[in-house]
Amino acid sequence: MRQFELVEKVKSYDPKADEDAINRAYVFALKAHGSQTRASGDPYFSHPVEVAGLLTRYRLDTNTIVTALLHDVVEDTPVTLDEIEKVFGPQVARLVDGVTKLSRLEHLSDRAKQAENFRKLVLAMSEDIRVLLVKLADRLHNMRTLKHVRDPEKRRRIAAETLDIYAPLAERIGMEEVKQELETIAFAEMHPDAYQSIVARLGFLRSQGETLIEQIIGDLKRMMSEGGIKAEVSGREKTPYSIWRKMRAKDASFEQFSDIMAFRVIVESVEECYRALGIVHGAFHVVPGRFKDYISTPKPNGYRSLHTGVIVPPNQRIEIQIRTREMHNVAEYGVAAHWSYKQGEDAGREGRQYRWLRSLLEILEQAADPQEFLEHTRLEMFQDQVFCFTPKGDLITLPRGATPVDFAYAVHSQVGDSCVGAKINGRIMPLRTQLRNGDQVEIITAKGHTPSPTWERFVVTGRARARIRRFINLKQREQFLDLGRSMVAKALRQEGVDPSDKVVEPAVKPLKQASLEDLYVVVGKGDIGARDVVLAAFPELKAPSRAHAVAPLTRLRRRAAAATDGAGSGEAGARAEPAARNALPIRGLIPGMAIHFAGCCHPLPGDRIIGIVTTGKGVTIHTADCQTLESFAATPERFVDVDWEYDGPGRQSHVGRIHVVTANEQGALANLTNVIAKHDGNINNLKIINRQADFFEMAIDLEVSDLGHLSNIIAALRASPSVTTVERARS
Ligand code: MN
Repeated sequence: MRQFELVEKVKSYDPKADEDAINRAYVFALKAHGSQTRASGDPYFSHPVEVAGLLTRYRLDTNTIVTALLHDVVEDTPVTLDEIEKVFGPQVARLVDGVTKLSRLEHLSDRAKQAENFRKLVLAMSEDIRVLLVKLADRLHNMRTLKHVRDPEKRRRIAAETLDIYAPLAERIGMEEVKQELETIAFAEMHPDAYQSIVARLGFLRSQGETLIEQIIGDLKRMMSEGGIKAEVSGREKTPYSIWRKMRAKDASFEQFSDIMAFRVIVESVEECYRALGIVHGAFHVVPGRFKDYISTPKPNGYRSLHTGVIVPPNQRIEIQIRTREMHNVAEYGVAAHWSYKQGEDAGREGRQYRWLRSLLEILEQAADPQEFLEHTRLEMFQDQVFCFTPKGDLITLPRGATPVDFAYAVHSQVGDSCVGAKINGRIMPLRTQLRNGDQVEIITAKGHTPSPTWERFVVTGRARARIRRFINLKQREQFLDLGRSMVAKALRQEGVDPSDKVVEPAVKPLKQASLEDLYVVVGKGDIGARDVVLAAFPELKAPSRAHAVAPLTRLRRRAAAATDGAGSGEAGARAEPAARNALPIRGLIPGMAIHFAGCCHPLPGDRIIGIVTTGKGVTIHTADCQTLESFAATPERFVDVDWEYDGPGRQSHVGRIHVVTANEQGALANLTNVIAKHDGNINNLKIINRQADFFEMAIDLEVSDLGHLSNIIAALRASPSVTTVERARS
């Protein structure tokens, strides 16, 4: 291409183009490259001119064309960026600088170094997408002349890089034609045998069915015009690379691969798109699963079209794309198609085109290892996903919004089940944290730990949710089973019967349960009363006059009286039997049963505790000496022997309540809060109950780890001069 041809081309789509600037750039580059030659033996200068020529196809502005002409001078000649800025202004200088940075990484063969530089590349692109457009045109021309490069190793590297980076980039911004050409050339270089055989086969099919493409085009045209639709119809073979990729993905041989023709129907309106689709589907057999509506749901790069697959006689599968002219331009020219609208009004649409670039940047900013980038470039094509890494560097792909728990389950369900914490990029973070691109996630596990039901609220993957649910159901059943068995045992003892599965067995059928286990479970759930089970097992107990009824009653009373000393309350005595057998660790209860800590007595680890079962509401934990327990004395089967599964102060906090009376003097409240803070207590709530001229009376709710912790705080407060009295609140 000559100087005047280039200027004319630009002028043809942009009459206001700066002709002078293009001419100056042409001459500047010509002088700078001087006698340099390309691998082909051509003058080097032919390259930037061809690149500029390629970009005129996309109707790009003067600065882009000028940048294309100058894109190699800084890298390959003594010309400096300063000189370019002086002659062509800061914007061109910035664009040339961007392209130069990208070009530099092509000289690096080391993958990691390349990746690191690509980070800069993307940064440059994000500033101005024109840098990317020039780079893609540069790469396209270099690929077109790749055959002249003598070193086969270098050719392969350039081809691999093109497939890894540039073809996906071209696709991502919607430059379909550029993508296809890059892929075809790179594929031929990387897999010459496969390429040759596909091309040969295509040639054969072409010789057989040359008329077929023409014939189908003719059929489609006729059908459209009969349907009153003005349509432009074209047909083509698929590219060798896309055929090869499908062959690999589907493990199909080329012989079996019949779907090698694609047709395009371009109509005038969206409404006509759907009408044309109706005509096609009415005329041919539809291939199931091939219909895609990218008009109602555009691809992330803005691509819109209808796709369908049909079978035309004689048994030939073809693909048909239906779209409007505008959709077609976007599909073919991508982001460049919007270039002319950039000034002002259509920034929103363009913003959408750029979004993927920004998320790519996000990854690169956060990736610890630049080498990871290559993975990202190919994978970040899906914006609804995040890419995270295990400490070993394995990539874990998750949907957006995923948390470390999702990550843990994605690694292995065992890891998920025993997950207790997570380090994200080396820092311990809450399990509900939403992961971001490039996060390195280390899951902390503990043997024997089990999933927490609360996880269900924030996980986003089906896999994690299913495992957690499954576990909850299983655990819940176990808990209900244990609880039910102990409730039935208690009810039996009230009647003076030694509890065993054997004596309960006869109740299974009358109560319409499938098994003894099921029976215990429904009792645990509270659907059937424990006493109903006893009555079902021993119907004779129902009789109003029971001679033997006296004995158990007496025994029960005697036992309750004997237990009084230990528990300090007669009514609570029924629970003072040896705790071991029915002991239900509270922590063990959590997955299955809702647990409430009673607001009346605020039990803390270290306190002796009693559980009260309330149907449908789970278990309420009281301190063993809580006054409230008296009101449950009439229903001893509701008492559950519980204990803390507790081995020293942990991180989990509990709320304890204290009553404090302090002097009403300056600094008294500050002193109080200081003492509490110094002992790692956290004031959860503070209520002034009584305020006199000389003293305050307060109820303070404190977050503490256990009873010992609270006792320490109480002791410290008692030692404080302004505090009059401190007591643990009992109600
Ligand atoms: Mn170049």
